[in-house]
Amino acid sequence: MNQKNAIEVKNLIKKYNNDSVALNIEDLNIPYGSIFGLLGPNGAGKSTFINILAGLTIKNSGSIKICEIDIDSNPKTSRAMIGVVPQEINIDPFFTPIEILDIQAGFYGIRKKEMKNKEILEELNLSEKANAYSRSLSGGMKRRLMVAKAMVHNPPVLVLDEPTAGVDVELRKKLWTYIKKLNSQGITIILTTHYLEEAEKLCDHIAVINKGKLVACDKKDTLLSLIDIKEIQIKLSQPLLKVPKNLKDFIISKNKELLVIRYSKSKISTGKIIDRIIRNNLKIEDLSTRETDLEDIFLKLLDN
Ligand code: ADP
Repeated sequence: MNQKNAIEVKNLIKKYNNDSVALNIEDLNIPYGSIFGLLGPNGAGKSTFINILAGLTIKNSGSIKICEIDIDSNPKTSRAMIGVVPQEINIDPFFTPIEILDIQAGFYGIRKKEMKNKEILEELNLSEKANAYSRSLSGGMKRRLMVAKAMVHNPPVLVLDEPTAGVDVELRKKLWTYIKKLNSQGITIILTTHYLEEAEKLCDHIAVINKGKLVACDKKDTLLSLIDIKEIQIKLSQPLLKVPKNLKDFIISKNKELLVIRYSKSKISTGKIIDRIIRNNLKIEDLSTRETDLEDIFLKLLDN
């Protein structure tokens, strides 16, 4: 079966001022209904990609479809399929949230009686502030208003550029809840982030871009299973004086009684490692394990 995608990219190339290639993506599909994380170091090409989707930057070649609509043949229709929440908060402090949404809806040619701006504010818990000056909103409310602004034309795809950059932990969690709620209503979410924890908690699909190229793109769980490494930290009851022979390939650091042991899960089990420790007459006082996280994957991919 041919799965339909919210975004389909083929042979996309973008160069700035005929310089080196900023983006070169052969093939990228973002499934409908996913929360898709776009990761990559600074300068990787994430904003360029988002700006091309949003119609703000012109690509050099290749094709992009948003909800099966080609952005070159049908620029207006394809743009209506997508809402973009930029990184910087850009709301006029002298307008009220409802006025801001009405103006934004006007840009999309939505008629007054068709506007659902009150409902959108309610959805984002901003009803109480609908008629307050936007400058009186808290940081979190302003962020939510940015999301509301991107939703005025009811797009099936929502793009969030670094939605929680510089945001405190509590607000970050609230924003995650909103993003999940929008997704549960069927909206495909694309977000860039440099918080790996955010991608790990929120996204079901992840793409990693480095130097303009896609270095990974898969379901999050598939990506996580790529890494075969496990780490355990062991506290012995006494300092380790000499590293035993049958553990020397696994101990990556030792500091008195503290050992960090790293091994390949497919080659040896945690039980066998512990057996070897006990067979050397070493007593374990405490043990903690660390599972693979996105950081390991990320570092490995950027290393290649
Ligand atoms: P990211 O969002 O991942 O940090 P960008 O898309 O901003 O990456 O940048 C990708 C590359 O394109 C970088 O090398 C950057 O310097 C270059 N670039 C981005 N915008 C412009 C521009 N307006 N003019 C020239 N080069 C640019």
